[in-house]
Amino acid sequence: VRRFNHRRGGFKPAPTIYPLDRGGMRAAKDPQALAAAVRAGDRRALARAITLVESDKAEHAAAAEALLAALLPHSGRAFRIGISGAPGVGKSTFIEAFGLHLIANGHRVAVLAIDPSSPRSGGSILGDKTRMEELGKSASAFIRPSPTGGTLGGVARRTREAGLICEAAGFDIVLIETVGVGQSETAVAGMVDAFLLLIAPAGGDELQGLKKGIVELADMVVVNKEDGELAAAAGRAAAEYRAALHLLRPNTPGWEPPVLTASSLERRRLDKIWAEFTRYRDCLGPKGLAAKRSDQAKAWMWSEIEAALRTNLLADAAVSRQVHALETKVSQGLITPAAAARQVLASLGKAGPASS
Ligand code: GDP
Repeated sequence: VRRFNHRRGGFKPAPTIYPLDRGGMRAAKDPQALAAAVRAGDRRALARAITLVESDKAEHAAAAEALLAALLPHSGRAFRIGISGAPGVGKSTFIEAFGLHLIANGHRVAVLAIDPSSPRSGGSILGDKTRMEELGKSASAFIRPSPTGGTLGGVARRTREAGLICEAAGFDIVLIETVGVGQSETAVAGMVDAFLLLIAPAGGDELQGLKKGIVELADMVVVNKEDGELAAAAGRAAAEYRAALHLLRPNTPGWEPPVLTASSLERRRLDKIWAEFTRYRDCLGPKGLAAKRSDQAKAWMWSEIEAALRTNLLADAAVSRQVHALETKVSQGLITPAAAARQVLASLGKAGPASS
């Protein structure tokens, strides 16, 4: 099956689907066996495990939770890297080149993606077979397209959980790609150890990503396409970013995000990028890394609680009606947002939707 890809203006094969009926039903019935197979390095089991945690079906929820509980103690040993950048800067070219470089140095690399804009029918990033073809063929790599559909929170959760599963399967580097849309960078920055912003030699005079606040999230900036006619422009862009980043308060004490140049196409200076990641990990130290991850885990818990509260709130028909009525009053200035919130929370206690 080939599908027309509007973004790339061409056809792409339909994404591989690992159906939950067949192997999946078995997986849902015996999550312990599935966890064991994942840990043993069975790639089909790995794909199936991710499909299980991505499932929206209520009957899969318990098995997914059991699977994750079994794998969690075996996760956490990978270095997690987020990669963002506007469409066309060369993310997939970079990930392919960087992934192959890491594999050549003995690593095992999992590549995941977050793209909340991807339609139900298939991911718009990483779903394209022509992307990362060489990396995809390597036995030391595992590439998984973005989970499709749903809210950013839902997509982010599934990607986070897929990352844990890949770590338990023995991948020691997890690369999470996101495209520069909306809040997805913030979500990715909240689940990785290091966040890389990829940019292209300027196509305009305004620094890409600076206005959007993405640069603030970056632990490293790489100006890609430092080759041929673009080499000089890449050097200039790097100098501008260096000056801009110098003015920002560092996310990590003692770490000023470096700005590097590289060519993904010619696969140059990738060793330097890895060296900088290593230096960053050393700068954090084991304690700093553990603290960063535990903060992220706590923030994740709260975002799950908030999302579930909201869902539960609106699932109760009476409360939902009340919420929308109050929303109208708030928008008309008839009642303050704080007073409306108090009324909603009061009836939340009475309706008890959380126990439903
Ligand atoms: P993405 O949308 O960010 O994933 O970008 P792609 O990886 O699909 O690359 C977009 C275009 O930029 C493609 O035509 C690539 O061949 C080209 N490209 C990517 N990396 C480089 C590079 O290092 N140098 C040059 N000259 N072109 C590159």
